[in-house]
Amino acid sequence: MKGFATYLHPNVCAATGPAADGDRVLAIHDEIRARLAAATADLPALPPAQVSLGELTLVHDAAYIAALRRLAKGRRPRQAPSSDRAALLNGAVPLLPALPGYGWALGGQYEALLGLRGGQLRAAYCFALPGHRAMPDGPRGDCLLNTQAVALRRAQRLGFHRILLIDWDLHRDDGTRRIFAGDPDIWRIGLYTAWEPDGAPNDAATTLHGDARAIELPVLDERISDSDRPGLGLPANCLRGPQSAEALVAALSRLPLQPDLIALYAGFDAHRNDQGRHVTDWVDDDFDWLTRAVCILAEYSGCPILSVHGGGREPEVTARLAEAHIRVLADWARV
Ligand SMILES: [Zn+2]
Repeated sequence: MKGFATYLHPNVCAATGPAADGDRVLAIHDEIRARLAAATADLPALPPAQVSLGELTLVHDAAYIAALRRLAKGRRPRQAPSSDRAALLNGAVPLLPALPGYGWALGGQYEALLGLRGGQLRAAYCFALPGHRAMPDGPRGDCLLNTQAVALRRAQRLGFHRILLIDWDLHRDDGTRRIFAGDPDIWRIGLYTAWEPDGAPNDAATTLHGDARAIELPVLDERISDSDRPGLGLPANCLRGPQSAEALVAALSRLPLQPDLIALYAGFDAHRNDQGRHVTDWVDDDFDWLTRAVCILAEYSGCPILSVHGGGREPEVTARLAEAHIRVLADWARV
């Protein structure tokens, strides 16, 4: 098992038209993708591949996908959504023009999985628009569709049955945790801010003990004191920034399973120069350390790594960190 490949094709950010005014998610991610593609042009790349959006129903409700397709064509959803659903769908509108890109993102992850399963690849890095918060029946935050969850469902069908999903994006993986709740094949390690920047309490930190297959690592903003924490409904087991990367590496070192696939949701927004200031406060070396720890675990487990691009709003910072992450994976995979 050798080999490494990236998937950074422009089609991942393909859109049917410009994103809505005021929404920069698509433009920012396309800039990050283009920077990464240029910086890693020396590495092997997977061929562009497109998967039908119907495949998204492996994790998303068919009604949600149908509604998105109709909205993308400028039509109203066939069924009048509930008020909650209507709000969610309205929230999704800025990213609707990007709908074709999700099919291309999924195509890349499927190609990577075939290579990982077949032994041609030992690791791969696939670009995608943010997805880990997207719920089965609607978007959340910047996440419209959860292509990584779809790809992991496909991975299960390809024969991977002890999948470890590590998510160190600053935000909580609401959608992924909902989709895989109770699934005996998927273990999750999630590190995220315990308190969302919009001021709403992050209920993840209070509902994280129910799933034995999950290790939750909520991190508390340094501006929230220990005495304020109970009043905000946040539990006592929150980490502080300086401990957080160390806690994630420690969690990797005491895993009760030997995975046959390690999936990464590689967000870079926990960096102190992105959205991580006052929370994780990570620097470049933290991401390097975490990536190397994942490679050591994969080496020890004899399993491949599929890393999917996560969050990061600062193109220069995110592209720099992602390139370094890719180089470590590539060096490990080619030894
Ligand atoms: Zn994020």
